Parts: sequence; structure tokens; C-alpha cells
Amino acid sequence: MPSLADRLRERIRSEGPISVEAYMAACNAHYYATRDPLGAAGDFTTAPEISQMFGEMVGACLADCWRRAGTPPGAIYAELGPGRGTLAADALRVMGKAGFQSAAHLVETSTALRQAQGERLEGARWHDRIEDLPPVPLLLAANEFLDALPLRQWVGDEERRIAVDGEGLRFTVDGEVREDSPARDEAVAAIGRHLARHGGVAVIVDYGHALSAPGDTLQAVKRHQFADPLIDPGEQDLTAHVDFEAAGRAVKAAGALVSDPVTQGNWLRCLGIEQRAQSLIASNPDKRHDVEQALHRLCDRDEMGELFKVMAIRAPGWPEPAGFGA
Ligand code: SAH
Repeated sequence: MPSLADRLRERIRSEGPISVEAYMAACNAHYYATRDPLGAAGDFTTAPEISQMFGEMVGACLADCWRRAGTPPGAIYAELGPGRGTLAADALRVMGKAGFQSAAHLVETSTALRQAQGERLEGARWHDRIEDLPPVPLLLAANEFLDALPLRQWVGDEERRIAVDGEGLRFTVDGEVREDSPARDEAVAAIGRHLARHGGVAVIVDYGHALSAPGDTLQAVKRHQFADPLIDPGEQDLTAHVDFEAAGRAVKAAGALVSDPVTQGNWLRCLGIEQRAQSLIASNPDKRHDVEQALHRLCDRDEMGELFKVMAIRAPGWPEPAGFGA
């Protein structure tokens, strides 16, 4: 079977240069369908894979909202792009202690990752699209999901495309790049529509900027190193910064409420991650170094603490999640 690189070159020869959006969609569909990219042996490591504390804080936040909303019956835990299922497992453990029970409802397109999730989460249910989630209140989480969805790039009014260049690929135009992402806007709008109709809250964590700004943020990562996004299509992880201002607009237009994004470090500290770290250390003193290291990676400015943001979406009438607002 021809490689994705061969198929893309063939497609460009017959259709002409393809948009960055089409390129990113094709590359990531292939990439995620054919591997588990997470962890030390893979290409990148995410917050839930760094420490159980991350998922525990997300779970505590969702459980607290559910309680303050009056424990509405029928509410379910849902997650978008759940990777290995680690965040769901850690969050649901904490939520269970607060009296919340639910199967994990997972929106995941990759068969390889669905299998990994199934091994981790008993009774998990899968859905192809956000729109397929059951019509009930959601306690929804998503970590590093939006950054994998395709975006468009523009130079002036011209859409940036990808053309064949000898044996490789090249951009059709360079200059000051602007980005937008109908796919991400549509994903958060779908969450907003669901919450506005059926109730619930969503906590969305990703790297990106709180305010829209120009710049080329498309990046490829392979084996924990940055790489050229036009090399090895479908064999490395393609992501780009999330524009939380644009996402917030799409949520509001869909009829849900949005809290201004806060940094991951501030949010986790506000939720009590430092106290959780101390209690983990107290019960496993030999793990002190690992726990402190994880806390540093998740919270500090020079690691994930500042670049990663947390955005909350909620149904009108539902309480604002902890760690946001005044
Ligand atoms: N949330 C996990 C994994 C992040 S990697 C973690 O934090 O560890 C991105 C995840 O999104 C993977 O599970 C990938 O398969 C999934 N994904 C990517 N594009 C998707 C799409 N269009 N629809 C549903 N899931 C998608």
C-alpha cells in the first residue's frame, strides 16, 4: 500500500495544492489511527500521563459542579480525544468518591486508541462525534484534543496551501501568517449546543493563547523533538496553538456560557494540587522526587503551567466551575 506521503503527492498532482487544513486532517487521521503516540516510548507526553494528580483535579472540579447543580440524575462523564483513558480513570475515581457514577462516554476516532481506552475503562462507550453523545447533562473533559484538530493558515487574503516540491512538499506562500480553525470552532460550538440543551459543564485544557494573535503555530513533534511539519506526513504529531478567544466566541454563539481561560498552573493550584501532592508524598515518602517533579512540570511557568490554558463552558443555570471567575 502506498505511504500517506505518496498518496498526498498524488492528490496534490491531481487536485492542485491542498490547504493546510486538509493536510493536517489527513496527516492526523493517519497518525492517530496507526499508533498509540503517548508516553516516553512514543512521541509526546500529556498532563494526565505525567501524574494522576491532573485527572484528579479535573474530576474534583467536575464533581463539585455536579453537586452544586443539585446532583441532576442521568448526568454522564464524557471526554473528547481520551488518549489512553488515563484522565478518565483518574477523574472518575475521584468523582466516584463524591457519589457520582457513570460509564465513560468517549468521543474517539482512532481504533488503536479505543482499544487502549477499553483496557483501562470498564464499561466505556464510544461515540464518533460530539453530536452522538446521549441527550443528558454532561460532565465533560478534553485535554489536548482541540490542538489536534485542523486549522487554516492565511497570508494576507491568500489561503496557505501545500504543493509538491521535488520529492518533498512546500508551502505555496510565506509571510505573516494568520490562523483560524472552523473545525475547532465547530467542536466547541457542538459542546455549547449540547450543554445549552441538556445541561452540564465542560473543562477544556490545551496549549494556546487567551487572545487572538497572528503567527504560524503549526508544529510537528516526533520522539519528543520538534520536527518539520512537511516531512514524514502522518508519521509525526501535528498540532497548533488553540485560539481560546475564537473558541469562546463560538461557544457563546451556541448559547452556552464561557469562563475566561486561566493558566493551567494557576488553575491546578487553585483546585488544590499542592495539597494533593503533599498527601501523596506523606503516604509514599519514597515517591517524593517523582511527585515534586510532576508538580513542577504541570504547574510551573517554564514547563506547562503558563502555555497551557483551561477554559470552562457551562449551561445557563449551571454553576461556574471552581478556579474561574472572580
Ligand atoms: N487527551 C489525551 C490524548 C491527547 S492526543 C491525553 O491528554 O493524554 C489527541 C487525542 O484526540 C487522541 O486520543 C486522538 O485519537 C484524538 N483525536 C484526534 N482527532 C480526533 C477527532 N477528529 N475526533 C475524535 N478524536 C480525535
